[in-house]
Amino acid sequence: MTGALMQAEDLHMRFGGVTAVSGVSLTLERGEIRCIIGPNGAGKSTLFNMLAGTQRPISGSIRFEDRDLIGLPLHKFAALGIARKFQVPSLFSTMSVYDNLVVARPAGGGSEDEAIHVGGMLETLGLTGDAGVAAAELPHGQKQWLEIGMALMSRPKLLLLDEPTAGMTSDETHRTVDLIAGLREAMTIVVIEHDMNFVRALACPTTVMHQGRVIASGPFSDIERDHTVRDVYLGRQ
Ligand code: ADP
Ligand code: MG
Repeated sequence: MTGALMQAEDLHMRFGGVTAVSGVSLTLERGEIRCIIGPNGAGKSTLFNMLAGTQRPISGSIRFEDRDLIGLPLHKFAALGIARKFQVPSLFSTMSVYDNLVVARPAGGGSEDEAIHVGGMLETLGLTGDAGVAAAELPHGQKQWLEIGMALMSRPKLLLLDEPTAGMTSDETHRTVDLIAGLREAMTIVVIEHDMNFVRALACPTTVMHQGRVIASGPFSDIERDHTVRDVYLGRQ
């Protein structure tokens, strides 16, 4: 297997008269962390929906490890190793933190190393002391980490995170940077983010979307200095 993990070419998506994504191409290398930024309505979540298999693009192609994904059912995307955390948490609120991780295992994954795997995940998430706590009782930031952990339980090759730090305190945001940076090289990660301090701290290659298109892509240090990006987005921060 050679080359990029995922290659999306010329994706288009429309809802009625609204063009949500228009001619977006994106190449993700193995082990890379990519940030996607852009104003509300830029088409970021729609792009994720297409990459994760929840929406089928009107046109364009998505290749993942030399396989064409367009038209495959959602469960195939997951089986191939594409995991996604939604903007809105979807935890099993009355179940314990531990059990939330257990149920997030892929079907048929009940091997004897389960306890080790869950234990390791609790440690990665900084939730070891909260294993028996009901998910609903966790503070907001920890709920988000648990959800990331649930996505990680299937050991994905590609993890898609839509605004993981929304509503977090700055301390929680810093810890989320550490959590995601710690996953570098174990998988490819794409993060949609609004918090520029987060993107700066992660120092990731960054793609900027505006009105359904990619208007800039490159190291965040270059993106921050880009005049067009400043005009359409960063200037408003
Ligand atoms: P972002 O995540 O960058 O804020 P979205 O991808 O959510 O942007 O939305 C892009 C555009 O597509 C917006 O104009 C939004 O209103 C529209 N849109 C997104 N999803 C739908 C949908 N399911 N039905 C109708 N319009 C949608
Ligand atoms: Mg969105």
